[in-house]
Amino acid sequence: MIQIRSAEILCVGTELLLGDIVNTDAAFLSRRLAALGINQYYQSVVGDNPARLEEMLTLALGRSDLVILTGGLGPTYDDLTKETAARLMGRSMYMHQESLDRLIARINRYGFAITENNKKQAMMPEGAVVFKNNYGTAPGLAIEDEEKGKIVILLPGPPRELEPMFTEEVEPYLKKFSDHILYSRCVNIFGMGESKVEDILRPMMLASTNPTIAPYAKDGEVLLRVTASGKTEDECRALCDRVIEKICATEVGGFVYGVDAGSLEGALVSELIARHLTVASAESCTGGYVSKRITNVSGASEVLEGSIVTYANRVKEQFVHVSHETLEAHGAVSRETAVEMARGVRELFGADVGISTTGIAGPGGGTPEKPVGLVYVAVSTKDGEDVRELRIGNGLATREYVRYVSASNALDLARRAVLKL
Ligand code: ATP
Ligand code: MG
Repeated sequence: MIQIRSAEILCVGTELLLGDIVNTDAAFLSRRLAALGINQYYQSVVGDNPARLEEMLTLALGRSDLVILTGGLGPTYDDLTKETAARLMGRSMYMHQESLDRLIARINRYGFAITENNKKQAMMPEGAVVFKNNYGTAPGLAIEDEEKGKIVILLPGPPRELEPMFTEEVEPYLKKFSDHILYSRCVNIFGMGESKVEDILRPMMLASTNPTIAPYAKDGEVLLRVTASGKTEDECRALCDRVIEKICATEVGGFVYGVDAGSLEGALVSELIARHLTVASAESCTGGYVSKRITNVSGASEVLEGSIVTYANRVKEQFVHVSHETLEAHGAVSRETAVEMARGVRELFGADVGISTTGIAGPGGGTPEKPVGLVYVAVSTKDGEDVRELRIGNGLATREYVRYVSASNALDLARRAVLKL
C-alpha cells in the first residue's frame, strides 16, 4: 500500500498565469487536504505547455508522494495534462469504455453529436482509477506507481466539476490510504485578540500534539481549531472535548461564545430561542448591519421583532425617544445616547432585548475628542442597560471594518445580557 506522507498541488492553465482567473481550485484542495490530515508542502501553477508541465511534474514527483493536477482535461488540443502525466508514468492510453458511454450519453443529452476530439476525454492511461464526472464531460483519474510509492491525481479545472468530484470520488479514494481519521472542532472567541489568546494558550499548544490547537483570526474574531486524530469519531471527539474544557478554564474562557457556534449572531439567536425572548435594534453607524446579521440566521423570525435605522438626530428623538437634552449635552455619539436608543427601541417594538449602535465609522467626521472608530453599543433589558465603548482600529480601520466590528460587539453585548435573563 502506498503511504501518503506529503502532497502537492500543481494547477495547469495559462489563464491562471495571466491572472484572468483566480486559483480557487488550489484554495479548495488545500483546505480539503488539510482536513484529511495530508501535509502539503508545495503548490504551483504552470501554463498549458507540455514541456514545462513535464518539468514541473517530474519535480513534484521527486519530492511528494501525491501530486494533484488540475485543469487541461478538456477535449481541445491545448488540454494535454493527461497525456503528459501518462507518458511520465510510463503508461499507454486506451479507450475506457464506461467513460465513453457516459460521455456519449451526456453529449446526446446536450443535443449534440460526439466529435472525435470529445472522445479523447474517455481515453485513459493503463491501470488508472477513474473518477466519474457528474457535472461535466471530463472524468478525473488517479495513476498509482506502487514501485515508487507515488500517486498522481488529475482533476478537471472548472470548480463546479472539480469540487463535487473531489467530495464524492477522490476523498473516499484517499481515505483508503490512511488508517486514521481526523476530526476537528472550532472554538469561537470574541473580545480577546489573537496574540493574547496565543500568549495564554502557548504552553498548552506546545504540549498538545493530539489534538493540535491552532488559532487564527477572522473578521475581528479568533477561532481555535482543535484537531484530533484517531480510529473513530467518538475517540477523536473525546480528545477534543477534554482540551476544549481546559481552554475554557483559562482566562480565554471568558471570551468563548461557543464551540462550532458558526457566528455571534447564531449564538445570540440560539440563546434567545432557548429562553423564548425577542430582540429589536436601533442602529446609527451600522445602518442595519446588526439586524442584517440576525436575519442571516435561519430561525431569526422567532426572535427578531424589528429594527430601525435612526441616522438623523431628529429620528433618534422622534422614534426611539432619545431626549433632546441628551443629544445637546453629549452628542449623538455618546454613552448616554446609546443607552437611550437601546431602551427606546425595546419599548418601541415591545421586545425583551433592545440593541443600539452609534459611532463614527469614518473615514471623515472624526474630531480629537471623538475620533474615527469611536463607537458606543448598548443593550437594554428589563434588568437595565449596559453599554460598551469601542475604539476600533486607532483611526486606521476602514469604514466597513468599523461597522462590522461594531455590529459584532453589539451582538456580543446582547448575548451576554441574554445569558443573565
Ligand atoms: P474544460 O473541459 O472546460 O476545458 P479543463 O479540465 O480542460 O476543462 P481548463 O481548460 O484548464 O480545464 O479550465 C477550464 C476552466 O475552468 C477555466 O477557464 C476556468 O474558468 C476554470 N478553471 C481552471 N483551472 C482553475 C483553477 N485552478 N481555479 C479556478 N478555476 C479554474
Ligand atoms: Mg480546457
